[in-house]
Amino acid sequence: MYDLAKELYPICRSITGNGVRETLAVVNKHIPLDISEVPTGTKVFDWVVPKEWNIKDAYIKDKSGNKIVDFKENNLHVVGYSQAVNDRLSLQELTPHLHTLPGKPDWVPYRTSYYDESWGFCLSHKQYLSLADDTYDVVIDSELSEGSLTLSEYVIPGETDREVLFSTHICHPSLANDNLSGIALLTYLAKELSVISTRYTYRFLFVPGTIGSISWLSLNENKAKNIDHGLVISCVGDEGGPTYKRSRRGNAPIDVAMEHVLRNSHLNGELEDFSPYGYDERQYCSPGFNLPVGLFERSKYGEYSEYHTSADDLSLISPQNLGESFQLVRSAIDILENNRKYLNLNGKCEPQLGRRGLYSAIGGDNEKANKQLAMLWILNQSDGNNSLLDIAVKANLSFSLVHETAVLLEEKGLIEEIEE
Ligand code: ZN
Repeated sequence: MYDLAKELYPICRSITGNGVRETLAVVNKHIPLDISEVPTGTKVFDWVVPKEWNIKDAYIKDKSGNKIVDFKENNLHVVGYSQAVNDRLSLQELTPHLHTLPGKPDWVPYRTSYYDESWGFCLSHKQYLSLADDTYDVVIDSELSEGSLTLSEYVIPGETDREVLFSTHICHPSLANDNLSGIALLTYLAKELSVISTRYTYRFLFVPGTIGSISWLSLNENKAKNIDHGLVISCVGDEGGPTYKRSRRGNAPIDVAMEHVLRNSHLNGELEDFSPYGYDERQYCSPGFNLPVGLFERSKYGEYSEYHTSADDLSLISPQNLGESFQLVRSAIDILENNRKYLNLNGKCEPQLGRRGLYSAIGGDNEKANKQLAMLWILNQSDGNNSLLDIAVKANLSFSLVHETAVLLEEKGLIEEIEE
């Protein structure tokens, strides 16, 4: 995952353009993406697909001809969606187009201007303060034209057409945690799920933030009905969190599953209620869809100091953090895949477990006490209303133990799965 993030890091991405296509071509080497183009001007709900933006070069040269700010050195130096410029300007004329972070004087900010035609450069505040009161040659060799917005998805069919959705944005340039970590995690998750058999169908969306998910939902409204669970994944490579933000529904199975996973992890996870601010969960959880889609991240978007700055580079993310994040999501998938409801076939008083060899079956096991408890909980709660996840939460036992114990009780003919 880290190597993939590293490979994608230098590419200049935006919400449209060749940087997105180049990124998807790299992901496509790992998983077979279905890529589609939505033309500029297409109406998607209340929005319109914007013009396509591409950039070849951009720089500011001082009077002696030295490139003092160079897009080719760091693509964050240009405000995303800047229109073309070729001009000589005084420092006074140039200054309104310069963006810096006075509080973090060594870092370059990340700025965009998608829906309002303008141009600008981003640089460190330290460099800005060093600029002489002189004239500067300013060049942005960019193009805003009728083109298209690129969407991509990968669907892994399961036993049923009920779906689990995973979505990440693909529109940030050289920024590692937000958002290359999300692209890398989803790519490897898809790779893993593509070689095992699953109950659910898995849909992976790699789309530009906001306009991408809006476009997908607008063009695939009928498919959204199949989504039973979903996660937006972003900022999963740093050492903060982990954090789970619940779906708008608040108590969907994915919310309960993620809460269970975080509570049972050695990492000190944090849970938050839904709020209509953040990533593409805002669109999936808009009232007209209200899909059970939560947000999984490590540090929270907008709250870690490197967020949307040049300091969100490859040193902020690590293979270990990516691996931990992957395992947490993988555990939630195990829960969704194995969460069933059972019916206790001996509902009147407890069945005699000893006679069925169930005490001996678990003898010598280190988790003997917990397994016995799990057995009693499953038998007591399997009245047709409670799922294994409900039982694990009530009993404060791990889902995997409850699931494993249910399989044993089913083999012994004490419980029967309820087909839903
Ligand atoms: Zn962002």
